[in-house]
Amino acid sequence: MSKSYSQLLRDIESGEIISIILIPNRREVIVEFINGERQLIPIFYNDQKILRISEEYNVPLTVRDIRSEQRLANFITGFGLTLIFVLSLSFLIRRSSKLLNNMQKFSGRSSQVNEDDIKTYTFDDVAGLNEESDELKEIVTFLRNPQILIDLGAKTPKGVLLVGPPGTGKTLLARAIAGEAEVPFFSISASEFVEMFVGVGAGRVRDLFKSAKSKSPCIVFIDEIDSIGRQRGAGIGGGNDEREQTLNQLLTELDGFEANNGVIVIAATNRPDILDQALTRPGRFDRRIDVSLPNRKARHKILTVHARSKPLCDSVNLMDWASKTPGFSGADLQNLLNEAAIYAARNGKSFIGSIEMDNALDKARFGLLTKPLSDPNKKRQIAYQIIGKTLVSLLLPSQDKLEKISLFKSLGDLSGMTYFTPDEETIDSGLLTRNYIYNKIVISLGARAAEIIIFGSKEVTQGSQKDLENVYFWANQMVTKFGFSDLGPVAYDSEKDSIFLGKGIMKNRKEYSQRTSKEIDNQIISIANKAIKDAINLLSDKVFLMDTLVDELVINETLESEYVINSLNSYLSNN
Ligand code: ATP
Repeated sequence: MSKSYSQLLRDIESGEIISIILIPNRREVIVEFINGERQLIPIFYNDQKILRISEEYNVPLTVRDIRSEQRLANFITGFGLTLIFVLSLSFLIRRSSKLLNNMQKFSGRSSQVNEDDIKTYTFDDVAGLNEESDELKEIVTFLRNPQILIDLGAKTPKGVLLVGPPGTGKTLLARAIAGEAEVPFFSISASEFVEMFVGVGAGRVRDLFKSAKSKSPCIVFIDEIDSIGRQRGAGIGGGNDEREQTLNQLLTELDGFEANNGVIVIAATNRPDILDQALTRPGRFDRRIDVSLPNRKARHKILTVHARSKPLCDSVNLMDWASKTPGFSGADLQNLLNEAAIYAARNGKSFIGSIEMDNALDKARFGLLTKPLSDPNKKRQIAYQIIGKTLVSLLLPSQDKLEKISLFKSLGDLSGMTYFTPDEETIDSGLLTRNYIYNKIVISLGARAAEIIIFGSKEVTQGSQKDLENVYFWANQMVTKFGFSDLGPVAYDSEKDSIFLGKGIMKNRKEYSQRTSKEIDNQIISIANKAIKDAINLLSDKVFLMDTLVDELVINETLESEYVINSLNSYLSNN
């Protein structure tokens, strides 16, 4: 404990102290005692008494000048602060220059557009696209020998738009043109043009065309053109500045390059409906080539192309698999074979057989399947839903082929599976009759109808919820789009307006009166009610057949389609 001032005076008098050090501008002294202890003891400002007493009792008193120490301390503090300031400044400068660098990299990246010469594709790689390929052969001719067109005074096409669903081979086709014409192929996805910084996209478009012109003749392929080419001014708040600037630059470039300079721009999209009309006017992307989903013959060819590198068992007939896969795109088919190969590898097989193909097809159609419920009562109720729906669909005239009946569930669906392969011709033609659509609604209500008949209307479950969503979807389309109701041959809703969220909100969406809106609801309800009655009528005299099939389904968990069809036919002929 530090001693008091009066104790200090007493200690000086009693000779307890060896020396005192006084620091003038600090009000304390450093005292050294006989026992070797050292202490700091506070004194008064300008204290004369301590000077006097130490002199009186012969205690040595030294005065220490600490100004030089203070100067050193001040110097060190000042230097430290300056150092910290300089370091933080240089850190900030480095960070902002990095940001600037990144911005430059963003705008400079267009020069890194993929110029593809790794693998050359030809039209032989594009299976089943004969019609499309024929049209594109003209472009190949021009790229190879432009003089033919120039001599005839014709202008070569500048832009070609490939339109089609995802995975139908648009990119492949564009590559094949480049491959056939033996010219460089520049590819970029339009979404890569648009970045955080306004103006960068436009810069990239300029760069892209600059590099392309230097390599002419060549093909520039822009994938997903809709991501920059959608109608300007659409969307809430008028649109996106960066996207619109990029689109404007693209239009300018297309206009700017003189005809016959050997650069052909091919763009791909699966949303032609949202493209800005300025993009598709003559002189720009004025050639449109529709690449549709492949038909059975084309699917067979695509499967054959992709099976070239895969060891298939002799029992695998690719034509059968082409028949089982309507609605599949080229990419889906490629994936089907790939999944089958993975299954084969997993099972330690060196050939791909029908079992692997079957598993791969199930995965492609239904995703991952989960096991049926273990509770016997619930399993039974679900089995009635499945059998009800299957029988209704078999009892109605339809070209769709019953493929699978199973208690295994696909994700998000509670009610097991009844799968029909859609009729190829109906899909191809795209024309659906009123009867076909109405029957779809009745089939969707088959599961509910079976539950009502067997368990009563109070014991129905929500297991067939997905089917009920389909009922609304189709009934709504019948009334509001196809003119298939008592409200007359009028389309109340048009697809065009619903493309842009912004447009939909800005505009008063419904163009019909509240009374019509109510009438539409009434029509939808009456279609659904009529359909459930029809489904119940179809099933009510087949309870015995349903019971038998349900028993078998609960035991086996899946049923062969042939077996169900035969059971129904013999039941009908006996009753
Ligand atoms: P997206 O619109 O999604 O960009 P895309 O129409 O450009 O798709 P591609 O990328 O050309 O489709 O095709 C995807 C894959 O599907 C390719 O790897 C290709 O092997 C295969 N494929 C698609 N169509 C065909 C076809 N007609 N012949 C052979 N393979 C095909």
